[in-house]
Amino acid sequence: MINTEEQIKLLVELQKLDSQILKMEDELNSIPEILSKLESDFNEKSSNLKKHEDDTKALQLKRKEKEGELKAKEDIVKKYTTQMYQVKTNKEYTALQEEIGRVKADSSLIEEAILKIFDQVDAENKEVAAQKEFLKKEDAVMREEKTKLDADALRIKSDLDRLKAQRAELTVKVDQKILARYDRILANKDGLAVAPITGESCQGCFGHMPAQVINEVRMKSSIICCENCTRILYIEE
Ligand SMILES: [Zn+2]
Repeated sequence: MINTEEQIKLLVELQKLDSQILKMEDELNSIPEILSKLESDFNEKSSNLKKHEDDTKALQLKRKEKEGELKAKEDIVKKYTTQMYQVKTNKEYTALQEEIGRVKADSSLIEEAILKIFDQVDAENKEVAAQKEFLKKEDAVMREEKTKLDADALRIKSDLDRLKAQRAELTVKVDQKILARYDRILANKDGLAVAPITGESCQGCFGHMPAQVINEVRMKSSIICCENCTRILYIEE
């Protein structure tokens, strides 16, 4: 003969444990998501550093290109200077002189451009250093968060083990048919299989309970379910 009053008490206790277990499982399951969010946030912040590093590389390439151009101009000047010794007429000499003047003017423009690139590289290098410093701090913050989350996960796992052991001990005392019913409702009704009646409403679905049902629940002579949401009903002492 099943003692229904005792069984309902056990189910209420079981529901309390299961609510805790489900809450902790949710918490545990959310941790990988938080971790990957931390990483993607960090990667986003790193993209600024990458941009400045790329800009620096592009500037260095541009500088090399300009230095190549400058070298070519200097070679032309050398070539013309040599030719000046070989020309026969004053006219030719003057023409070369003018040509050299033009090439030298071009060269000094290129030199100015190179100096400007050096300044830009300096500025970029400062920005890269600042970004690295910023990311170093962000990385430390992220690592700290990760360590904390890992510790949280371990703590939650060990709490869950403890609660599940308690659950196993408790379910041994519950009638197997009642337990099967409880488990079915728990799975189908969002982790809440047992609901109290407060005032005149079921706290599972907040539906109004007829006086007849409330009386039956109060009598505790059988398991009474909410007609609306099927949850097992009880009245808090
Ligand atoms: Zn209900």
